[in-house]
Amino acid sequence: MRSKYEFNIKSREDFYRHPERYRVEPFRIYGNLYFVGNKSVGAHLIDTGEGLLLIDTTYPTTAAMLIQSIWELGFNPGDIRCILHTHGHFDHFGATDLLKELSGAKTYLGERDVVMFRERPELALTEGSGCQYFGPFVPDEAMRDGDVITLGNTSVRIVTTPGHSDGVISFFTEIEEDGVRLTAGMHGGAGMNTMCRTFIDRYKNGHCRKEFLEGLNKVYEERVDIMLGNHTGHNRTVEKRRFMLEHPEEPNPFIDPGEWKRYLDFVRNRYEVMLQEEAEGTDLVED
Ligand SMILES: [Zn+2]
Repeated sequence: MRSKYEFNIKSREDFYRHPERYRVEPFRIYGNLYFVGNKSVGAHLIDTGEGLLLIDTTYPTTAAMLIQSIWELGFNPGDIRCILHTHGHFDHFGATDLLKELSGAKTYLGERDVVMFRERPELALTEGSGCQYFGPFVPDEAMRDGDVITLGNTSVRIVTTPGHSDGVISFFTEIEEDGVRLTAGMHGGAGMNTMCRTFIDRYKNGHCRKEFLEGLNKVYEERVDIMLGNHTGHNRTVEKRRFMLEHPEEPNPFIDPGEWKRYLDFVRNRYEVMLQEEAEGTDLVED
């Protein structure tokens, strides 16, 4: 038995065998901010004028698509200077080693996930993912609460929001287009899969639950004009892109100042429903 909030690895096999089915054509979201991820996992590229800044590198099996996407936008993957990670799970750092080799980029990971990589690498979830040929990378820099990472014209503010993993990082940065500066923000990870009771029983990481709610409160009042997602479902990346293509005359659907709070409310509600189901015993399923 497993909690229905844990991933069913079997249902993800298609993704590993046929990554090309998850291809998304890269596109510009706003200003110098671009989407280079796939249908499942987000990856975001900022052209800072002094090199490229990349947030997350998706799965190892989608590394080639990510590199192709960067080329298609007219950039050279060799120009990546900084790679930031939302957290230390395999679906967000799968192409990091390869991209570092290509570009010499400096890699950043939340301080507590740097410790996790060293002391509890099983929590990076590389095992049993269908991609067991790779392990955690060695981060160059640890990100701490309040840090600001600056490259060229871009400064990214770091806020720690632990829970989904100990070292989850949320990002906030200003992006300009035609003289209009907007704030883009991303919560770095809010999946219940590592906070449900069967996972906690197995991995002894029960502290994550209290920290998760504290993290949601911490960023709730942030002003976010453009909400980004490290999974495309969070901000409906693919649907918004389709809307952009079909309605080029309409306002940019990625600009939605109410979305941040709506998303955080949704996540909190999902967490509360999970606790309720655990109390009732209706959270367990058989594979
Ligand atoms: Zn994760």
